[in-house]
Amino acid sequence: MRMTNQRKMILDLLKKSRMPKSAEMILSDLPDHTMNLSTVYRTLDAFFIEGLVSKSSMKNTAYYYMQNQGHHHYMICINCQKMYEIDCHLDDIAEHVADHHHFKITHHDMTVYGYCEACQKELNM
Ligand SMILES: [Zn+2]
Ligand SMILES: [Zn+2]
Repeated sequence: MRMTNQRKMILDLLKKSRMPKSAEMILSDLPDHTMNLSTVYRTLDAFFIEGLVSKSSMKNTAYYYMQNQGHHHYMICINCQKMYEIDCHLDDIAEHVADHHHFKITHHDMTVYGYCEACQKELNM
């Protein structure tokens, strides 16, 4: 795979990041001011299609993350946007579904949405 400097810079940032990042957040973290937002968007999208990064969405914004320390996903509070790292339990289901449809899975994507404990209290849920 061809790894240009731009791709490498964005990938390094995601590798170092402990939490998922949006294209805007990545752009502001980049030292290179010649890269524009659409380049960052395009690169992230390519990474996602290639299965290099996973993503979660909040209010029309996609947040990208590496599967650094073992495969995992995120659970996001839709009120305060707090993110929790959660284990993946999809592998067995994915395998079963792939067999059934003769589908060759390259990667998958999963995000759990809801309200954290503090927000449930705040919103009297
Ligand atoms: Zn919350
Ligand atoms: Zn998973």
